[in-house]
Amino acid sequence: MNIPFNRPTLAGLELEHIREAIGLGQLSGDGSFTYKCQAQLIRLIGAEAVLLTHSCTAALEMAAMLIGIEPGDEVIMPSYTFVSTANAVVLRRGVPVFVDIRPDTLNIDEDLIESAITPRTKAIFPVHYAGVPAEMDRINEIARQYNLYVVEDAAQALGSTYKGRSAGSLGHLAAFSFHETKNIISGEGGALAINDKGLIERAEIIREKGTNRKRFFRGQVDKYTWVDAGSSFLPGELIAAFLHGQLDRIDVIQSDRMTTWTRYNEALQPFHNRGLGLPFIPQTCTHNAHLYYIILPNLELRQSLIARLREDGINAPFHYVPLHTSPAGLKLAKTSGMLPYTENLSDRLVRLPLFPQIGEQLERVIDRVVHHLDQML
Ligand SMILES: *Cc1c(COP(=O)(O)O)cnc(C)c1O
Repeated sequence: MNIPFNRPTLAGLELEHIREAIGLGQLSGDGSFTYKCQAQLIRLIGAEAVLLTHSCTAALEMAAMLIGIEPGDEVIMPSYTFVSTANAVVLRRGVPVFVDIRPDTLNIDEDLIESAITPRTKAIFPVHYAGVPAEMDRINEIARQYNLYVVEDAAQALGSTYKGRSAGSLGHLAAFSFHETKNIISGEGGALAINDKGLIERAEIIREKGTNRKRFFRGQVDKYTWVDAGSSFLPGELIAAFLHGQLDRIDVIQSDRMTTWTRYNEALQPFHNRGLGLPFIPQTCTHNAHLYYIILPNLELRQSLIARLREDGINAPFHYVPLHTSPAGLKLAKTSGMLPYTENLSDRLVRLPLFPQIGEQLERVIDRVVHHLDQML
């Protein structure tokens, strides 16, 4: 039997909530399930406001509009990230500026940010890779000094903390994903967390096709009309109903993932002094067990491990191809300095299967990984 990298699973009441949503007679967005999810997320993240979106990609695009990215504006971000972090900037005709990652957390190297700042720099988009928060105090300090916005790409980081504060509460804005590969899922889905109160009203307008529909429903204006540029960034109620069923069980989901993460980490520890890189969690952070990766000594061994596991029926994929070496990245973005860790580590990283209710498949994966590593290292 094949073991997938990810298996989307029901956590509890998703189907009942969907049935209830249909019964309530509103399937478009911003119904009662959307509000329930937003309230749950505000509590969880500690943000000033949260708006559900149809993806993290959409939330990042909203963020780029809200902070007013204009043609030629630069945004500093890691190259080791998903394309959406950069696309959000490129769609406003802004320019992503890539800097290298730290070799320990694989997050943006905060010490390289200052040298990438130019008079055109508008914002920093840190990514919390594997659900481990970036070094946000230093990043926010630089942002204050140079008057920049900070948008957290917190796609992977729901439930993680940095110095006791939740990921998503640390920048002016933060984008979350509920894609089926994330911890809390709704197939496709996302949310924009807003910590700068001054951005809330315009966020509501941008998300509702540039109209003041929200204010109309609150009785603040007597008709709703087109007031700004905008698009449709909201999910329908069926998605929100599913998501509510997941958010209700977040503690169970996260602790199930953490058990798997910890078991991998214990089982693979003996290979640490044989050249295998393992995840590093800074003392200042807690993480949400979003993914478990290992770092092989070189590309050949990484490819060999992926091939051997595939023969065992185990799907263990590599991860991001650095954006600065991609065709669009070469054309549409800039690179600040050399990115040796990004290039080197992306060649060597493998992700192991991690999903709720992995059950006894976990021991089979560990058995095979340990067997291969024993021969290879
Ligand atoms: C998954 C992910 C995204 C995109 O999320 P979608 O909800 O699929 O749009 C963006 N950034 C990072 C870092 C991600 O991991």
